[in-house]
Amino acid sequence: MRVLITGAAGFLGSHLSDRFIAEGHTVVGMDNLITGNMDNIAHLMGHERFSFIKHDVSNYIYVPGEIDAVLHFASPASPNDYLEHPIPTLKVGSLGTHNTLGLAKAKGARYLLASTSEVYGDPQVNPQPETYWGNVNPIGPRGVYDEAKRFAEAMTLAYQRYHGLETRIVRIFNTYGPRMRLNDGRVVPNFIHQALTNQPITVYGDGSQTRAFQYYSDLVDGIYRLLHSDEDLPVNIGNPNEMTIVEFARAVVDIANSQSEIVFVQPTDDRFTDDPKQRRPDISKAKRVLGWEPKVDLAEGLKNTLDYFRDKV
Ligand code: UDP
Repeated sequence: MRVLITGAAGFLGSHLSDRFIAEGHTVVGMDNLITGNMDNIAHLMGHERFSFIKHDVSNYIYVPGEIDAVLHFASPASPNDYLEHPIPTLKVGSLGTHNTLGLAKAKGARYLLASTSEVYGDPQVNPQPETYWGNVNPIGPRGVYDEAKRFAEAMTLAYQRYHGLETRIVRIFNTYGPRMRLNDGRVVPNFIHQALTNQPITVYGDGSQTRAFQYYSDLVDGIYRLLHSDEDLPVNIGNPNEMTIVEFARAVVDIANSQSEIVFVQPTDDRFTDDPKQRRPDISKAKRVLGWEPKVDLAEGLKNTLDYFRDKV
C-alpha cells in the first residue's frame, strides 16, 4: 500500500510511519510542524519508501500518484497545545478532516480518522463504551479539541454514508511513550521530567481524577488491525488499567527511583477547567472485532519511556 499519514512528525504519526514502513508499505508523511518535530522522523528521511511533505492539511491538499489509505493524525493533542493553538485545532479537526476525506475519495483510498476519548468529555458513565454519547462542554477551553473531533467523526460517517467511502474511526485513550514532547504539558512528560530532575511532582487538584494509560506500541497495533478490519464504526483503543493521578504519580516516582515529593497544585489558568474526573476505555468491542488487547504493562512502558527521556531532561 501507499499510505498518507498526516501528523507524521508527531508522537503517534511517527510511530505509525515506522510500523507501515516495517510492514513493507510506502509512506507519504505530512505535517505542518506546529507541534510535530522532524527529529521524530529523521531516521526515515532518505528511506526509499518514505517521503515527507510539509503542509497544513487545513488547506487544500495535493499529493501526486496513487494513495491506498489516508490516516488523519494531524492535530495539536495535549490540553496545553490546543489551548495555545485553539483555532488551528478547530481547523485541522474540521477543515483538515474534510480535505483528507476529499483526498481519500478522489484517490479511492480507505480512510482512518484519529479520534479521541475526549469525544466522551467529562463522562458520566465509567468505563466508556463506544455507544456512550458523551458529556462535552462546547464552549469550554477543551471544546476546541473535543468538538472538532466530534465534527470529524460526523464528517467521516457522512463520507461513508453519502459517498460510500471506506472509513475507520479509532477513539484513542491516553497514550504515552518515546517521542512525546517533554514540554507538551501532559501528565506523563510532566511527571517524568519532574521525577528525573528530582523536582516536586505537580498533581492537579486533589489527584482523585482517574486515567488509564496505554503504551504507544499497543495503540499502533490496534490501529493497524482496525485499518485492515471491516469495522466501520468507532472503536476504543486504550488500556483499561485505570488509576488515580496520585497513584500514577507514586508509580512514576517509584519506577524512576526518584527523590521527588508529590505536591498538590490548583492551576489558575484554563488547564484544569472541565478536566474529566474519570476515564477508562471499555475495550470489549476491540477485543471482539479486532482480537486486540494491550500487552505492555505500566511498569515496562514507563521504564522504556524514562530511558528515552533520561538524556533529554
Ligand atoms: N495532570 C496533573 N499534573 C500535571 C499534568 C496533568 O495532575 O502536571 C493531570 C490533569 O489534571 C489530568 C490528568 O493529569 O487530570 C491527565 O492530564 P493530561 O494533560 O495528560 O491529559 P488529559 O487526559 O486530561 O487529556
